[in-house]
Amino acid sequence: MNENSLLQFDRQHIWHPYAAVNSELPLFAVQRAEGVIIQLMDGRQLIDGMSSWWSAIHGYNHPRLNQAATQQLAQMSHVMFGGLTHEPAVRLAQQLVQLLPAPLDKIFFADSGSVAVEVAMKMAVQYQQARGEQQRYKFATIRAGYHGDTWHAMSVCDPVTGMHSLFAKGLPVQYFLPQPCVKFDEIWHDEAITPLEELLAEKGHEIAALILEPIVQGAGGMYFYSPQYLVQAKALCEQYGILLIFDEIATGFGRTGKLFAYQHAQVLPDIMCLGKALTGGYLTLSATITSQQIAEIICSGEAKCFMHGPTFMANPLACAIAAESIQLLLDSDWQSNVQRIEQQFKQELHAAQMLSAVKEVRVLGAIGVIEMKQAVNMATLQLRFVKNGVWVRPFGKLVYLMPPFIIQPHELSQLIAGTIQALREEYGNL
Ligand SMILES: *Cc1c(COP(=O)(O)O)cnc(C)c1O
Repeated sequence: MNENSLLQFDRQHIWHPYAAVNSELPLFAVQRAEGVIIQLMDGRQLIDGMSSWWSAIHGYNHPRLNQAATQQLAQMSHVMFGGLTHEPAVRLAQQLVQLLPAPLDKIFFADSGSVAVEVAMKMAVQYQQARGEQQRYKFATIRAGYHGDTWHAMSVCDPVTGMHSLFAKGLPVQYFLPQPCVKFDEIWHDEAITPLEELLAEKGHEIAALILEPIVQGAGGMYFYSPQYLVQAKALCEQYGILLIFDEIATGFGRTGKLFAYQHAQVLPDIMCLGKALTGGYLTLSATITSQQIAEIICSGEAKCFMHGPTFMANPLACAIAAESIQLLLDSDWQSNVQRIEQQFKQELHAAQMLSAVKEVRVLGAIGVIEMKQAVNMATLQLRFVKNGVWVRPFGKLVYLMPPFIIQPHELSQLIAGTIQALREEYGNL
């Protein structure tokens, strides 16, 4: 297909994420991708700074993941999960059970991160009902979070950036706490937990669960907060009979420097959500994981089962690739890779601090964030990134980099330099 007609047809007929139809914003056609390189149809090669939204941790077109896919295709791409099971699902579940600490060993596979969050929220409500706590159906969370785009996942996203007013009449109203005011590497002080203490003392009896992105708030603000917040939140949840849900969809599989972000605090949730990098960025798949005890209580309730079952549950092709992706991660020296990326971000990304349009530069694991003082102009800035040979997709005030873990030092230098150069061109050298 010719590039121009492809782009033209796309503009006329296809929606893109958070975009208008017939949008005037720049759009680029991709020919192929390999390693950390995204090649456009016009031949230009871009260094990938996004891992396709946290997912492509091993880079694109990986021979081992390709092989896992083709092998599974020769068996079956899909078969229903009601009454049937298969090796890819069992193998993947075995790996997850091994990676996660003891009580978290009951796994529900679903189609996407948002659905994993819906599943976690439904589990929490069914759990409370089975315990005779019918009045507990609300959720508490912190502001500037992001948990997905489906209805109840959206209800726990930040009310402002998630545009709750737009859906106000139909959207459940949840309890929002301020962002934890102690940052990741700051000294803890107890006032940071006071809002949660006060909320639970007053409304705890209505709340089924507290849902958090542990340590790193992703798409809602790219903010890193103190592990101690999780320690205190866990104790309060236990005190008030509230389940704790960790949404590790963005943070899971090494991105923050630990395999899972809860490990920064060594606090276990009652329910955990995984997605994004689960399949190494090949296919959509998610998992919601809980304990034997919670699963038993859920299934002792009125329905006698958990009330959810997607058509493509535990899709064999996705599970086979996910199992291989986890093996690939464990076989690799991912921890040194992430540390190396973190060091290089700390050394090179801070040059962006010199620009007067930049408010703050922050780094954790393989995540580098440049927070601007004002929201960026996507139309002009996106073109400048591409012109400088990098694929970076900012949102609002945030320009952030989270490359595949396999990125080499010289490629990362190019990525960082291209990003800063584009900002210089956009804002001038001042
Ligand atoms: C991306 C994301 C989701 C939603 O996942 P989708 O696969 O896009 O539905 C949920 N929670 C967090 C923390 C995410 O980063």
